[in-house]
Amino acid sequence: GKTPASADMHVDGVGFSYPGTERLVLNQVSLHIPAGQKVAILGRSGSGKSTLASLIRGEYAPDTGSVCIGGVPTFELSDALTQYIGVIQQNPYLFNKTLRDNLKLGNPEATDEQVLDALERVHLGGLVAGLPDGLDTMVDEAGKRFSGGERHRIAIARILLANTPVVLLDEPTVGLDPITEQALLETLFETCADRTLIMITHHLQGADMFDRIVFIEDGALAMDGSPAHL
Ligand code: ATP
Ligand code: MG
Repeated sequence: GKTPASADMHVDGVGFSYPGTERLVLNQVSLHIPAGQKVAILGRSGSGKSTLASLIRGEYAPDTGSVCIGGVPTFELSDALTQYIGVIQQNPYLFNKTLRDNLKLGNPEATDEQVLDALERVHLGGLVAGLPDGLDTMVDEAGKRFSGGERHRIAIARILLANTPVVLLDEPTVGLDPITEQALLETLFETCADRTLIMITHHLQGADMFDRIVFIEDGALAMDGSPAHL
């Protein structure tokens, strides 16, 4: 297979309808995200944000145009893409393994010290200290043991441990109170200092931390600029 030459992302003239449907969910979307840029993607519910994320992480190929990382279409990278893009989906998936193994998915070499440090960073250190089996606690598949906000933070800790050059987050702060949300954003920015951060959200809190804000409206780019220009 082809290897991306860099972490530059190019979304070029993308049009997309879900298989078996007619409606164009994305229409002529173009975005160049240079390596290291911090981008917030905003838009109302149903505007196409998660769909754009699905294309970026290669779940679908666009009907028209292209989505590439380092010159290679993300759709063609399939499994190899996980080396380049760390993803937290809107409903983060936890596996029926130990908490430790859930956290080490993107970095099997991580030491317990690094795992515990990542948990501290997402403010879950206390939670784990309170579990009778600690990192050996089994997480059932649905992750029922943890609240929605805790699941998100576990997923974020997993991404912090994996060293992908691009981190893509779909509403990572949903279900969190404003103080935890702000703390988590700061953690993300600190940990992703040299990495590309693409964060989907439908509210503006913390938007001034980003280099760039992109608004999607009805599947098209409605605005694209620095937070100062909003
Ligand atoms: P939210 O803020 O609520 O998460 P969003 O901006 O992420 O919204 P998308 O999930 O990208 O919105 O959905 C865009 C449109 O595509 C919606 O009209 C939605 O109903 C439709 N859609 C999403 N997933 C599918 C699917 N698997 N099959 C068909 N249509 C879909
Ligand atoms: Mg969404």
